[in-house]
Amino acid sequence: MIYRRCGKSGIDLPVISLGLWHNFGGVDTFEPFRKIIWKAFDAGITHFDLANNYGPPPGSAEENFGRILKMDFQSHRDEMIISTKAGWDMWPGPYGDFGSRKYLIASLNQSLKRMQLDYVDIFYSHRPDPFTPLEETMGALASTINSGKSLYTGISSYEAERTQQAADLLKSYRTPCLIHQPQYSMFERWVEDGLMNVLGENGIGCIAFSPLAQGLLTNKYLNGIPEGSRAAKVTGFLQANEVTVERIEKVTKLNGIAKNRNQSLAQMAIAWLLKDERVTSVLVGASSTEQLVDNLASLANLKFQHEELKMIEEILTNG
Ligand code: NDP
Repeated sequence: MIYRRCGKSGIDLPVISLGLWHNFGGVDTFEPFRKIIWKAFDAGITHFDLANNYGPPPGSAEENFGRILKMDFQSHRDEMIISTKAGWDMWPGPYGDFGSRKYLIASLNQSLKRMQLDYVDIFYSHRPDPFTPLEETMGALASTINSGKSLYTGISSYEAERTQQAADLLKSYRTPCLIHQPQYSMFERWVEDGLMNVLGENGIGCIAFSPLAQGLLTNKYLNGIPEGSRAAKVTGFLQANEVTVERIEKVTKLNGIAKNRNQSLAQMAIAWLLKDERVTSVLVGASSTEQLVDNLASLANLKFQHEELKMIEEILTNG
């Protein structure tokens, strides 16, 4: 594993981290995902990313992860960075959604119970809340540090200007923002338009979610939608209508470049994100140990020739 310093902090993160959004819920089978966690940790993946609502059903990924921690990793807790989040719809009524102090703190307490942990390493505001003062949301994150329930603060999907405001507030509370978690892949590049500069200037790390565009940036969908894939599952977030002809044409061309680099497309998509040193970690999902192993092998070739980058750019921009 290669580790990168997370912004201006004392924390190193593995350049590949594992997310438990899909494949670890109550609808999934326990043994395979237990093995995925083992494989990840053995390969030096020290960072596991969760959220209150991961499952389905919501909360079940945290419960399952807690069981695995208890069974297999009790003596390794201090070698791990475990994160969770609150911000999306979690429970009925007005207090289980968005960014109020009430929601964030109640939710973290629930997450700790589900994972059977005393604290998480990173607690995130999962999304910006246009209706709640930012002072309240950031104040709640800071309180969780002061009460010992989290060690670092993070924000997810905040656009550049709001990220700057959040960073300023967190600095003033002496609980600086450790990390930002945006969606970032060859197919989703909004962060390049200002956010990455804000992160770099403020010494905030970046962990890219859905780096494989939920599986689109692999060879999985080259010949249609396979059974059991995320796009085929009722519980999968990727919709079949997102697997468009136009996208698959691009994927086919990108796959050709990956082959010339002796890489799988998944490996190239990960390496492409890590070429920017401000990207601390790439947060992959995996439904099997084989996928994880494939993704880990990207570390063998993270370098790009100028010509390769130009060809990739041409495909992404013009098809
Ligand atoms: P990816 O883009 O890495 O997609 C993962 C999926 O891609 C897998 O489930 C699998 O699909 C497929 N896949 C992975 N590796 C391979 C491979 N080598 N070959 C073929 N197919 C492969 O990430 P996710 O969308 O899962 O997101 C990763 C993490 O990011 C989440 O678990 C979560 O922690 C975080 N996240 C955060 C969000 C936020 O709002 N902050 C939102 C979304 C995610 P299949 O299941 O079909 O086999």
